[in-house]
Parts: sequence; C-alpha cells; structure tokens
Amino acid sequence: MDKNPRSSLKKCRRILIKIGSKVLSTGLGLNNRVIDRLCDDLSLLRDRGKEFALVSSGAIAEGTAIMKVGRKGVTLSKKQALAAIGQGSLIRAYTDAFRRYGYTAAQILITREDLDDRRRYLNIRNTFTALFEYGAIPIINENDTVSVEEIQFTDNDMLSAMIIPLVEPQALIVLTDTDGVCCEDPRVNPEAQIIREIKDIRLEDIKAQSSEAGSMGRGGMQSKLKAAYHASLLGIPTVITSAYIPQVIGSVLEGKEIGTFVHPHRKGKLTQKDHWISYVTRPKGKVVVDDGAAAMILTKGKSLLPCGVVNVEGSFHAGDPVEIVEPGGRAIAVGLSNFTAGEVLKIKGANTSQVCRILDHECDEEVVHRNNMILKKETLP
Ligand code: GLU
Repeated sequence: MDKNPRSSLKKCRRILIKIGSKVLSTGLGLNNRVIDRLCDDLSLLRDRGKEFALVSSGAIAEGTAIMKVGRKGVTLSKKQALAAIGQGSLIRAYTDAFRRYGYTAAQILITREDLDDRRRYLNIRNTFTALFEYGAIPIINENDTVSVEEIQFTDNDMLSAMIIPLVEPQALIVLTDTDGVCCEDPRVNPEAQIIREIKDIRLEDIKAQSSEAGSMGRGGMQSKLKAAYHASLLGIPTVITSAYIPQVIGSVLEGKEIGTFVHPHRKGKLTQKDHWISYVTRPKGKVVVDDGAAAMILTKGKSLLPCGVVNVEGSFHAGDPVEIVEPGGRAIAVGLSNFTAGEVLKIKGANTSQVCRILDHECDEEVVHRNNMILKKETLP
C-alpha cells in the first residue's frame, strides 16, 4: 500500500486554487509572468482532463497601479472604486492567457451576503456545475465594489474556504509568496524550517502562525491555515506553497513534496449543509433556552423542543439560522429554526402536543431539529 499521503493528490480531478495579491502584483501592475505561467500549467493539466476553479485576488492592487495611487489611508469607497478599475484588467489577463490554449475563463464575483442566503448559495452551486459542463475555468473574486465592510469575507482565503462545497473540488491549493507553512515566522527567522505535513490541524497550529498580511492583500498565513482547516473538515487536503515554483500545480498533483500538505480530518467529514450552518450563514436571531434544555442539547444530543424555550431575540423566518443561547447568555449551538420568531414566542414553554393547536396549523414538534443543529464547541471560533 502507498503510505505517501500526497499520492491521493494524483487522483484529484477537480482542484480549487487560491492565489493572492502579493504574487499577482509587481507593485507597478499585474505580474503577467506569474499569471501566464500559472495558466500554462493549468491549461496543460486541463488537456489531461483536470478541472480547475481559481480564486484570484489582485483587483485592488491592479486598480491602485492603474491609478498610480498608494493604498495607505484609502477610504472604503475608493478601495471599491479601485477594485472596479482593476478587476477588468485582472480578468482580461486570465482570459487572454487561457485563450492561447483554447480555454475559456469565466468571472464570478461573490459577496458574503450571496452565501448567507441558502437559495442564492445553492444557485451559485448550480452556476459552477454549468460552468464545469461548459469546460470553462471559473475565476472567482469577492465582489469588492458592492461589499460592505462589516460583512466582507475576512479575505480571499476565507472566500476559498466558503465556496469549497459549491465548487466540490478534491483538493485546495493555496499559492502564496513563501514555500509553505514554517515553524517560525520566516520574516523573523529566514532559516525557519517548512512544515511538510499537518495531520489533524488544530486551532493551536493556526493561532501560532502570523496573521499579518502583506501590503497588497488582506490574508496572512493564519488565514491560509484557517482555509485549510475548513477544507480538512470538508474532507479534502490542502497544499500551501509558493506561486513562484515553475509548474507548481502539476508538481503538487504529482504528489511531489513541495509546500505544506494539510491532511483532511480523520474524524469524518462535515456535510455541505452543516458547513453552511456552522460557518457560512450568520444567525438571524437568538432563542434563549432553560438549563434543562441546554443540558439535553449539550450532553444528550437532543433537539430543541418548545418546552425548553424561555425567550426569543431578533426577527427570523422559518428555515433561518438562529443561535441557541443558555440562560447566562452563552451561545451553545446554531441551527435552523422550524418557526418564525413570533411563532416561537407563542409556543415557548408549551408541551409538544399543544404546539399545532396553539399555532392552528400542522407543524414540526421541534423548534430546532438536531439534524439541523451544530454545537458551538464543535466549531472553529
Ligand atoms: N478581493 C481583493 C482584491 O481582489 C483581495 C482580497 C485579499 O487580499 O484577500 O483585490
């Protein structure tokens, strides 16, 4: 049996790649050499039946170069304008580079809000499916021009993590300007050794890494590891490596020992829906429960019944995600409510048998069913 964990990469058919602003921009404009080399690499692999989706930053960096302005002290609306200016050149660079091989690039711009809404989320998944059927190569970026600061993705590393269930790749490759994850910050110690393999990635591994981003992009190594953590929960491996290595994607997919390989979690994988509930969508309200209900949820893995509810905060519809909060105010779980906020207020404290009569319509017995609930202690903060 082949013991090399990287040999699983040879079998990957669809790969999600993330490439950051730092390597895509020279500071004076787009680094066309990096883009052309990456597209050469991907096109040759595409000829051999591999499929790719690419999360590419670089719009704001390119807009900044086109307008010949610095990034320091730039207001949000100016950044959004710079993204609008740069995104066109960015996508043109990919379109031109892939066209040389007869392949088609397709631009997808996504906001955090698009993924928050289950219907829009699933709709984007259908778009990805159709793009792969057309043989196109999706090039994804945050729709910076309309993203509001409070609800932005933290960076494109997180955007990549959030769209894994939509793209359905068998591996994630994060391209950056260092050779991989180091045991110490290479900016402090240039001799720092690369960690070749991370098994059972834990929060401690992530926190130990630098969160400092480069001057061009928003994410540091910490956010790359967070993306790898999401991938591992979703059952796929991640390789974090340098974009400057020639034919880097081909080499990674041959299982060569470059960069850092983060194993998928052994504990079984999170479903697409559970990932969406835990990490993608944000709660629309709170359901405060009594101690008894909190204990049943936390220790017995039970659903939340109306009799355990003491209060409701916020306004939500049936099907919306809500936080389940214990009396002291600590959120213990998040799940999809079977009722509107108004209905939960009406049935709080009631026995299961009374619920339909109180609401005067056929309905579920549980406020939040266990199958639609994720405990906070099981999720990355
Ligand atoms: N979406 C931003 C851009 O295209 C980059 C965000 C990031 O650096 O992660 O410029």
